[in-house]
Amino acid sequence: MTYPYSTSVANESSVLNPAQREADIAKLKNTDFDILVIGGGVVGSGIALDAASRGLSVALVESDDYAAGTSSRSSKLIHGGLRYLEQFDFRLVREALHERELMITHQAPHLVKPLSFLYPLHRKYIDRIYVGAGLLLYDMLRGMQRAVPWHSHIAVSEMSTAARSLNPEIVIGGLLYYDAQVDDARHTMMVARTAKAHGATMVTGAKVSQVIRSNKKIIGATVNIDNESFKVKAKVVIAAAGIWNEAIYEQCGITPGYKIMMSKGVHITLPKDAIDLKTGVILRTPVSVLFIIPWVNEWLLGTTDTPYTGDRERPVADPEDVDYIIEQANKVLIPKISREQVLSTYAGIRPLVSPTKDSSTTKISREHTVDHPIDGFVSIAGGKYTTYRIMAQDAVDAAAKDLGFNVPKSKTSKIPLLGAVGYDSLKKSVTSLAESYSMSTATIEHLLNRYGTAISDILNLIYKDSDLSKELLPGSYYVRAEVLYAATHEGARSLVDVLVRRLRVAMESKNHGLDISQECAELIAPVLGWNKAEIKRQVLAFEKYVTLEMSAVN
Ligand SMILES: Cc1cc2nc3c(=O)[nH]c(=O)nc-3n(C[C@H](O)[C@H](O)[C@H](O)COP(=O)(O)OP(=O)(O)OC[C@H]3O[C@@H](n4cnc5c(N)ncnc54)[C@H](O)[C@@H]3O)c2cc1C
Repeated sequence: MTYPYSTSVANESSVLNPAQREADIAKLKNTDFDILVIGGGVVGSGIALDAASRGLSVALVESDDYAAGTSSRSSKLIHGGLRYLEQFDFRLVREALHERELMITHQAPHLVKPLSFLYPLHRKYIDRIYVGAGLLLYDMLRGMQRAVPWHSHIAVSEMSTAARSLNPEIVIGGLLYYDAQVDDARHTMMVARTAKAHGATMVTGAKVSQVIRSNKKIIGATVNIDNESFKVKAKVVIAAAGIWNEAIYEQCGITPGYKIMMSKGVHITLPKDAIDLKTGVILRTPVSVLFIIPWVNEWLLGTTDTPYTGDRERPVADPEDVDYIIEQANKVLIPKISREQVLSTYAGIRPLVSPTKDSSTTKISREHTVDHPIDGFVSIAGGKYTTYRIMAQDAVDAAAKDLGFNVPKSKTSKIPLLGAVGYDSLKKSVTSLAESYSMSTATIEHLLNRYGTAISDILNLIYKDSDLSKELLPGSYYVRAEVLYAATHEGARSLVDVLVRRLRVAMESKNHGLDISQECAELIAPVLGWNKAEIKRQVLAFEKYVTLEMSAVN
């Protein structure tokens, strides 16, 4: 076996693991930071990267895991949002399309992939003119960049090849346009690792219980970590806690400059053979849109958009949510899909910023709001996953006003995420890598699209122990090394972190990974210091997670 790649310095400095966590906890106790970020979703992780790359000292504390909140539960689209055009939200669409192009071309080409969508037409001429004009505007708003193809018309005669599952009695043609897709939880973790590589202090399992106020200024926060509470000093605290932001305001006794309305969105997955389409599909629904999205070996269908007042920690799909998605999809699908075919479900909560309490959640703009109500405190809310980088930039710009020195401009539009640099040329080596490591080209492609050039780390593990190249689940392309790597490099601290967010086994596998949970727990136990009792506890916690996630269909 040849040994073509070594772990790069960048990979090493981006490591998130127990030793790094312990070292960063010590830094939390001993450093007076420029910025303390609350929340390790995509926005908080983006803020840590933005601030660290401007040369600021920054710490991020996340109460659970990276992307444990909304950032692992989205539709996983990097898009301008066609429906926001109808709301005349041109600024948001243009901004999001610009970000889409940046991510596909140089920020995260290994993670963000172009994806085609078919917009079905129902009325002969009028729909083609109306939708065609909308898509022309959509394509034009991205400016001169061209990371995805221009939209095109699909003739009625082509529909039976492109979209066999769309009922020809209802759909009489279509338009094809492009957006992009990402594994949101992996992407957020990669943003966090890139922030680490730029010098950010990053600690998960760290909950802010109190924001500390001294006279008219915020000066830090009390953080609870592993049953210990201590103060973290910072010149500015930025709340990037999504749907939890209002609780942070309560801690410091400040009235928020906005109202967060929570809106629940549910997705279901179906096996690949349930639907015969060569592209994703966007469908109009009475209140919003429904996507049918190709995802690895299955279809992802969603989403709903309903006001929510329940538990923030663990939103789950209700049977009514599942029925609604199936009902909407069945308006155009043949054969019809059924609840019995549903493989998995998940629910997320949108943190929508509302000017008034009574706004309808589907009508509220997805633009973000930065609030700076008092010296030393900034909060950011709303927005979309796609625009996280701009949100981060705006939050750090607001914080910079309280720092008392000149802060350089944001550099993140030029910063590739970990694994991006060299990805395009490494793609040409798929066959030779597969031969060198006695793996299939499909497995190497799977790894490249999850790690980019950080695939070298995975291959190094396999070089040292060939047992780690074994498939985790038949036909899934996941290998055992990925489970281990999640704990040694990607900051996973529990079995749920590994099987729900680092690998998408819980969502993608028929058995949700219950059949491999013991094996996976034993694999990462030495890294995370688990004894037999802890392994058992982790497996039980994972089983409980899956049971709850599937409660709407079981
Ligand atoms: C169903 C659905 C579909 C969506 N689809 C898309 C899409 O396709 N494309 C798109 O662009 N956008 C989409 N979005 C929007 C997007 O997912 C969100 O805007 C984005 O993920 C919000 O990220 P965030 O970092 O603000 O919040 P979160 O990801 O929720 O992060 C907040 C974090 O703060 C932590 N936290 C809370 N309180 C504390 C505390 N006291 N101390 C420490 N940490 C704390 C939480 O644990 C959490 O991890 C969708 C949203 C939903 C719900």
